[in-house]
Amino acid sequence: MKILLIEDNQNVCDFITLALEIGWPELKIHKSSSGETGIALVKALHPDIVTVDLGLPDISGYEVIKEIRSFSEVPVIVLTARGEEKDIVKALEFGADEYVIKPFGQMELIARIRVLLRRYQSRNPEQLLSFGKLSLDLAKRTVRYNLKEEMLTGTECTVLKQLIEKEGLVTTRESIAEKIWGTDYADSSGAIKVYIRHLREKIEDDPGNPKVILTRFGIGYYLAKETSL
Ligand code: CA
Repeated sequence: MKILLIEDNQNVCDFITLALEIGWPELKIHKSSSGETGIALVKALHPDIVTVDLGLPDISGYEVIKEIRSFSEVPVIVLTARGEEKDIVKALEFGADEYVIKPFGQMELIARIRVLLRRYQSRNPEQLLSFGKLSLDLAKRTVRYNLKEEMLTGTECTVLKQLIEKEGLVTTRESIAEKIWGTDYADSSGAIKVYIRHLREKIEDDPGNPKVILTRFGIGYYLAKETSL
């Protein structure tokens, strides 16, 4: 298994390396201190997971994530010193799967990486889920609706799988957070909104006026009745 750290701060890099060596002695760790080199390494090495620092010397972490997402669905964790939710939401919008706010503990980082890897590795190669005309291919990580087929990120798959399994009943935000992060964050609803919006953009004819993924205000999300899909 390979991990790529795109991080310009040597101390943070050492800290992460140490944490990873404790959590996964067999893991191969690659490093890049700049965004451009990091992108090139994702292409060349096909890592299993990537961490991206938002403040890099050449281009911003957002640009790095966006570029990576143009050719890869590799799980991306953002490491950011900026705790403000708008920064995190922006990183998620650009396609990050997960975030850790600096300063973080080694155990926290290990836990976050473990959840993310488990989520990716637990994909059953045969698994195809459907509800009405909506179908989710967990192996290919694609969603089909009407005549559209779109690629999903790992997190989007996790959210949509949960909605499909509920067969039209409401999935609470807490339970979505639990599936994504293994716990409910106090400020996770902003992030969940982003995932839902991305799913709607990929599925709905008019994402601003959704007919497939519906909102139960203050509670969560559900799929429209099977017969009306
Ligand atoms: Ca930095």
